[in-house]
Order: sequence, then structure tokens, then C-alpha cells
Amino acid sequence: METILFATKNKGKIKEINAILADMDVNVISMEDAGITVDVIEDGTTFEENAMKKAAQIMEIGGKITLSDDSGLEIDYLDKAPGIYSARFMGEDTHYEERFRAIFEKLKDVPEEQRTARFVSCIAAAFPDGRRLVSYDTVEGIIGWEAKGENGFGYDPIFYVPEKGKYMAELSPEEKNAISHRGKALRKMREMLQKEL
Ligand code: IMP
Repeated sequence: METILFATKNKGKIKEINAILADMDVNVISMEDAGITVDVIEDGTTFEENAMKKAAQIMEIGGKITLSDDSGLEIDYLDKAPGIYSARFMGEDTHYEERFRAIFEKLKDVPEEQRTARFVSCIAAAFPDGRRLVSYDTVEGIIGWEAKGENGFGYDPIFYVPEKGKYMAELSPEEKNAISHRGKALRKMREMLQKEL
């Protein structure tokens, strides 16, 4: 069975990824499992550049097929911010509650039709033999007026998903994986990997 390394330290992401790749005949291990502690500098200008850089660098260290996800939230009214800077928005150590307050303030009198946003996920795969794969997907929603729900992570509590009539953080892990940016991009990647392995 092929072992695939997933290049992330984000526990929220690892949970989602394991659930989606669980039915594939591969053994997915985390950086922690592989004893890799390096931090890859995410200095690309696009999700794809960052995802590929992470996958390639960690593959060089771990020597195994390596997947990575670069993802984030694009708020149209804020010119697609925080985008690739989602994890570092207002500073790396700033609590999400504080980020939510700032976002609500910036969107204070903005009507629903202008509160459109999307989560974006770009998944990259780097093989030791030089092959590279990329998949990309999004989930569309709107920035709500309150933070709601206990599930998920990151910006899930303020992201209202019209097709579900709920905030992302109110969805069960299965419901989120079925519609999410990462779920969709990972399923595309799973298809591509199945052809390569
Ligand atoms: P990355 O780890 O550099 O890709 O940064 C991703 C950041 O985007 C996370 O730390 C979150 O702030 C945000 N993000 C990505 N995916 C999600 C999601 O599914 N829900 C909520 N926030 C997300």
C-alpha cells in the first residue's frame, strides 16, 4: 500500500482530509507522524504557488508522495481579502473572534447581496519522480451577521451557506466534506491520484 504524506500541521484540515481519503487504498500520514517539523515559508502570490511549494519541499524531506492544501477565504467586498493571508489575517496569533469582529465591522452596513464570499482550496501533489498534480475548487457563501456553530475551524462560524440554510460551523463533518472547497478539491485529487498510482 502506498504511503502518502500530507503536508499540513493544521489539525482541522487533517481530520477532514483523513475522512475524505479514508476509502482509498493508501496510508495517509501527517508531518507529525513522519517527524517533520519544518515550516515552509508561504511566500507565493497564489494558492497554487503556495500549495505546490509546500508539497515539493516536504516531499524532498520525507521522500514520499506528498499532498498539500493551500486554502483561504475570499470576501468580495474586501477585494478578496484575506485570501492567501487567511491564516495570518490581523496577525498570526489573533483569535478568530477578534477577526470576526473586524470583518463584521468592515461589512457593517453592507447588504446581503454584496456579502458574497467563497472558501478556496488548492491541493497539490508532488511525487519523488518529478510528477506534479494540482486540483482547485471553491464553495460559495455569504458573510453572515453573527458567528454561529461549533463545528469545523477557522472562519466556518461566519460563513453562511445558502444551499444549506446554515453556517458552515453548524454542519456536521460529513455535511461539510460533501460541499466544501477542500472536499471537492480533494475528491478531484483522489481521482487524479488513482490514475497515477
Ligand atoms: P493555510 O493553512 O495557509 O492554507 O491557511 C488556511 C487558512 O484559511 C486557515 O487557517 C483558515 O483561516 C482558512 N480556512 C481554510 N479552509 C477553511 C475552512 O474549511 N474553514 C474555515 N476556514 C478555513
